[in-house]
Amino acid sequence: MLSYDTINLMKIRDRYAPSPTGLQHIGGIRTALFNYLFARSSGSQDGKFVLRLEDTDRTRFDQSYVQNLYDTFDWLGFKWDEGPVPDNEVEVRSFQSNGGPFSPYIQSERTEHYKKFAQELLDKGQAYYCFCTSERIEEVRKQREEAHSSESGYDRLCRQIDPEDAAKRAASSEPCTVRLKIPLSETTVFNDYLLGDIEWKNDDVNPDPVLLKSDGFPTYHLANVVDDHLMEITHVLRAQEWLASTPLHVIMYRAFGWKPPEFCHLPMVMGQDGKKLSKRHGATSIDEFRKAGYLPAALINYIALLGASYEEGKEIYTLEELAARFSLDKLNKAPAVFDYKKLEWYNGQYIRMMNDDELAALCLPYAIEAGLFGGEPAEQQLKIFTASMALVKERLIFLKEAPEKIAYLFKEPEIPAAEEFIPKKCDLAKTIELLQIGKELVNSMAQAASDEDAENFIKTEAERREVKLGDLMMPLRVAITGSRVSPPLFGSLRILGAACSEQRIQKALDKLTNS
Ligand code: GLU
Repeated sequence: MLSYDTINLMKIRDRYAPSPTGLQHIGGIRTALFNYLFARSSGSQDGKFVLRLEDTDRTRFDQSYVQNLYDTFDWLGFKWDEGPVPDNEVEVRSFQSNGGPFSPYIQSERTEHYKKFAQELLDKGQAYYCFCTSERIEEVRKQREEAHSSESGYDRLCRQIDPEDAAKRAASSEPCTVRLKIPLSETTVFNDYLLGDIEWKNDDVNPDPVLLKSDGFPTYHLANVVDDHLMEITHVLRAQEWLASTPLHVIMYRAFGWKPPEFCHLPMVMGQDGKKLSKRHGATSIDEFRKAGYLPAALINYIALLGASYEEGKEIYTLEELAARFSLDKLNKAPAVFDYKKLEWYNGQYIRMMNDDELAALCLPYAIEAGLFGGEPAEQQLKIFTASMALVKERLIFLKEAPEKIAYLFKEPEIPAAEEFIPKKCDLAKTIELLQIGKELVNSMAQAASDEDAENFIKTEAERREVKLGDLMMPLRVAITGSRVSPPLFGSLRILGAACSEQRIQKALDKLTNS
């Protein structure tokens, strides 16, 4: 194992190697982010973060998942240094039109490599042709099950076939796969940065797994090892669920005579109930978080802390700050617990850090979708919308909450029932009186230069007229916003203007007087 000091001097090349068989989710993006941060960490010199599409499982592949992968990275705002070039980016990404020196980075475009290396293992006697049909393999499985055998997987039948005969049969196009010949009765030892030395009896490793399928496509194991080697990957940071495959990979590296990369299997991500994070716990796909109105920076910040600790007491980090602090020593062994409430907190924090223009730009699509403007916004509506951000910024957890909270600024609210207007210990007559005072004051408040000025003014007036400030404010708020609970009243009055505010109060007064 290399000490951290040695890693410090290294040019780190790491990778995120998703299989496009599903939407990008928290676990995958955590892996991607950690690899990105590690390549850019202060311990890395000119590190490279590689994206490789492991799309060899053609039955589960779907192009929409590739698009989802690209869209997810776009939205999150961090990028790979080498990797596939999305169609729409061919022009934009000028650094290398083919995506990097080890192009292509899509495994289905690299099948020649895998065939060549499978052949190399066959030639070395480290792999063999298997002619068993899937029916036979299924039959073996059934028989073992019925006999309650402890053995599982392939029974290594074709391992006995004379390699020359096998080669002839394969050459005559007899359907076959290529299997790894696992050295039996040996032990494979490797080091995991986080988990330490790991020993695995070869007899317990998946017996002679398929490397090349009968359709000529490689399996995950072959393609993954060959590409990590060819792409000069120095560190494999991946989810712990791949730990069981690692002995097999190490056996393959040895069979090829290659030096394996450093391995670091990342702590699991759990729900609060201690079970692996899944749909049962809530949103898991990045798309769902995006649609719910999470900010990419908040999500990144939170994900970066899933299984890693940086500075005591510091919770908000930019991507650059995270990269500067990241190291494998900061990773925790214990599983990370995904806390939706904490993520919400992060989102709120990031919303508060934005200025009105930034926040308005992000909330705008939600507002249009919610029909806030009755179509595309007019210039005046946009002005109001931007100004209203100051009113809701402190209260938002999600962007999509904004339109509902400020709807009263765009559309006259329904006048609520009389009881809603009446402050505690007051009656209807008193409420009408208070609202009349409010109407007299509203012009000055709407024109006040700041909230403080408006507040000072109404406070002084309340004292002078010997009414409680709270009692004066309540009916006014209900008349203006249609609700007892609303964004700040003074700011609302300023945005609505004196005339509109007075009109709303008058309408409320009419309703109260007639009730
Ligand atoms: N293609 C594998 C996946 O879907 C990659 C695992 C690895 O990083 O080796 O996660």
